[in-house]
Amino acid sequence: MRASTRRVLALLGVTALTLSPLAGLPALAVHEAGHALGAWLSGGQVTSVHLGLDLAGHTETRGGALLAVLLGGPLAAVVLPAGLAAVAGGVGGRLARAAEAVGLVVLLRAVLDLGWHGLIAPGPYSDAARVGAAVGAPARLVGASLFAVGLAMLLWLAARARYRMFQVSSMGPKPAA
Ligand SMILES: [Zn+2]
Repeated sequence: MRASTRRVLALLGVTALTLSPLAGLPALAVHEAGHALGAWLSGGQVTSVHLGLDLAGHTETRGGALLAVLLGGPLAAVVLPAGLAAVAGGVGGRLARAAEAVGLVVLLRAVLDLGWHGLIAPGPYSDAARVGAAVGAPARLVGASLFAVGLAMLLWLAARARYRMFQVSSMGPKPAA
């Protein structure tokens, strides 16, 4: 198989994986966990967490700081998979490479979700809209900021992973001069 064909197939595979619930569910789980963490860390309580197979999530909290609860979701959805990819990327071996790939795919999904719910279609109950209402800023500005943070992390980590792949392949046998 030609290298360009392999690259197109890999790209299609990653796209399908990213759009599937295989990436959507973990991305949703860390997002809702982030809302819960925001509530706990700011002295509030979590009364219920709902994770739906239809990829609808909802976390109900009581008390705590509203901004910490609201921002906790999108930030955790970006920071946790990015952290997994960053840490696993520093460790050698096949398992670490697999963990890095999982982190990158879940991060990509989180960034796409942020773009969709924050920039393209921020509904009245989206985190971006509610943070915007709390701080008096347009929802799309909040969405764009969160999207930019996620995208920057994703690009940095993906470039790092690619650079390492290139290093590994350039360590192979040298072509005869
Ligand atoms: Zn949320």
